[in-house]
Amino acid sequence: MKLKILFVSAEVYPFAKTGGLADVSSALPPALKKLGHDIRVIMPKYPCTAKAGKKIQSLKIDLKLSGFNEKGTLFKSELDGGVPVYLIKHDGYFNRKHIYGEPGSDYPDSVERFSFFSQAVLEAVKSIDFKPDIIHCNDWHTGLIPVYLKSIYRKDPWFSQTKTFFSIHNLGYQGNFPHSQLKFTGLDESLFTEEGLEFYDQISFLKGGLIFSDTLSTVSPTYSQEIQTPDMGFGMQGILQKRSGCLHGILNGVDETIWNPKTDPLIPVNYGPKSLSQKKQCREDLIKTFSLRLNKKVPILCMITRLSQQKGIDLIMEAKDALDKQDVSLVILGTGSTEYEAFFKQWSREQPDKIATALKFDESLGHQILAGSDMLLMPSLYEPCGLTQMYALKYGTVPIVRAVGGLKDSIQEFSEKTGKGTGFKFKAPQLKFLLKSLQKALSYFHQTQTWKKLMLNGMSKDNSWEFAAKKYSLLYQKSLRS
Ligand code: ADP
Repeated sequence: MKLKILFVSAEVYPFAKTGGLADVSSALPPALKKLGHDIRVIMPKYPCTAKAGKKIQSLKIDLKLSGFNEKGTLFKSELDGGVPVYLIKHDGYFNRKHIYGEPGSDYPDSVERFSFFSQAVLEAVKSIDFKPDIIHCNDWHTGLIPVYLKSIYRKDPWFSQTKTFFSIHNLGYQGNFPHSQLKFTGLDESLFTEEGLEFYDQISFLKGGLIFSDTLSTVSPTYSQEIQTPDMGFGMQGILQKRSGCLHGILNGVDETIWNPKTDPLIPVNYGPKSLSQKKQCREDLIKTFSLRLNKKVPILCMITRLSQQKGIDLIMEAKDALDKQDVSLVILGTGSTEYEAFFKQWSREQPDKIATALKFDESLGHQILAGSDMLLMPSLYEPCGLTQMYALKYGTVPIVRAVGGLKDSIQEFSEKTGKGTGFKFKAPQLKFLLKSLQKALSYFHQTQTWKKLMLNGMSKDNSWEFAAKKYSLLYQKSLRS
């Protein structure tokens, strides 16, 4: 059945990106369109959207919202593959330097910003004459949409047949704000209960999404189980256990129009499984870019990541002495907490020949580093899915990861005996286990044929979005039947 789907996200590549959510929001909708659905994407219009290299056209439509004196205006663009992208413009709320706030924090008026956005989304679909069967919401910024539909918009005939689908991309970000800010949402005080939006005396946008949506999903099967436990449930485990019957884990995919070393315009030399030796030139280029001094036998490890506790950065800090003694190089591209940034800056000052740090968000450099490195380190404390390790596989860059969430699901431990497997995994987040996996990887790195086999295993892994899109499609249909 061909469905009308509205996909709502605060970030969509190439219009705006801080992490994996943007990649998912640009890749899943085209994959769903290929299955025949009429899918439209909607997001806020930020200053960075103008740099996407896409034509953005004003629809000359005003969005007036009850309860808000403010009005938004609607713009339109397109993703590759012809999926329409609608952008909601409101200069007061969205014409700012950052998408969410200074790194690591939210703007103080986030309740207003995303309440406004959520209601504007519902008004926008009416003004473009689109009656969605499914509204697919993503992360806390969109958590109030299902709440509005079941309260203020409950009797609105436009949405009488609409079902809501809420995807958790990271349970650690919840959009929790003081109770006193409930008034900015336009929602009634009666919703501030344990069965509603109240979360430890605060209002929680995420909880709104988890309770009021018809179907829930998250981005890997393992994470869908982990978030139902006190260890990784961030206080939401009880709600998720109650709703486990409609919570599904679907592993993200790789957008091969963007992440493919055979065609990637952002890397110095293209290569693939049949021209693997060309990867060496990407390595040489990376060595030059960062003025590293390495002989051919020294593997380059890389990390391309938000510098947050979640990503296991403390473990890397602990591993510094051991890595200093090893014949390995490390290239880090990331932004985040000032403490972590200062650590890496200092480390590369101490060891400029083998440690390189780029403290910025740079999409192009991310591709270059992935292509030029030999291994990727991803020792996350928790990882809903993780995309970088899947991109690394495509680029023949062998992942060393912690066996958690989507990392556990997407990487198979290499076995020399069977010749199967795509990387190396360790369970407990402890230095000795990280180093053990690293030692194992290093020993194979020096066995040329075995290493080549390992690289090829990863490169030939089919992680295309088609699989995931089919699963989402089935869940949408199931939701509409229920
Ligand atoms: P998360 O969404 O938790 O940040 P993912 O691995 O799912 O982690 O996705 C991260 C995405 O952001 C990947 O596309 C990765 O390449 C990219 N990325 C992260 N940090 C940077 C950076 N500093 N510069 C460029 N790209 C980055």
